[in-house]
Amino acid sequence: MASVLIALGGNVGDVRATFRKAIAQICGMAQGALIARSSDYVTPPWGDEDQAAFINACIEIETDLDPHALLFVLQKVEQKFGRMRQKDRRWGPRTLDLDMIAYDELSLQKPDLTLPHPRLFERAFVLVPLAEIAPDRVISGIRVRDGLASVSTQGIERLPDTG
Ligand code: ATP
Ligand code: CA
Ligand code: CA
Repeated sequence: MASVLIALGGNVGDVRATFRKAIAQICGMAQGALIARSSDYVTPPWGDEDQAAFINACIEIETDLDPHALLFVLQKVEQKFGRMRQKDRRWGPRTLDLDMIAYDELSLQKPDLTLPHPRLFERAFVLVPLAEIAPDRVISGIRVRDGLASVSTQGIERLPDTG
């Protein structure tokens, strides 16, 4: 089994409900076990700031799927929740974005899949939820808690659990 960290994000629709359903579908389709799930966080938009605030979370799953098969699953789940790829607006509004942050210790540079995720350590909106579930994980030579300590977490707020 591989241990995989996945970041979830969205800023259109009932994002927290989307996360709940999406996590169940990911685990089902990947025949995976949910090992950990962070809280949900409200985070300021990144990259393209002229849009609604995002909600972000991270999960850890265990799966036997290889990285490309898992990427396919993540893209299927994104599509199920109405993700439209807007080619002209990178980092724009979306119902659901699922990024593979790390797959075991694997390092991969393919046109359609880079592991670990190359922009992880620039992104407080990923590091905050990730540090909640995997503070001691070392990714690209950096411990998650140390990566978090070197970014600004301004504007990020943890949401209360909905139960
Ligand atoms: P970013 O990658 O900066 O977070 P994004 O999530 O908005 O941007 P998308 O439009 O969702 O970008 O994805 C663009 C492509 O990134 C996907 O088609 C996918 O093939 C590729 N990709 C490369 N590495 C990964 C990864 N680790 N996880 C998910 N997708 C990846
Ligand atoms: Ca992303
Ligand atoms: Ca993505």
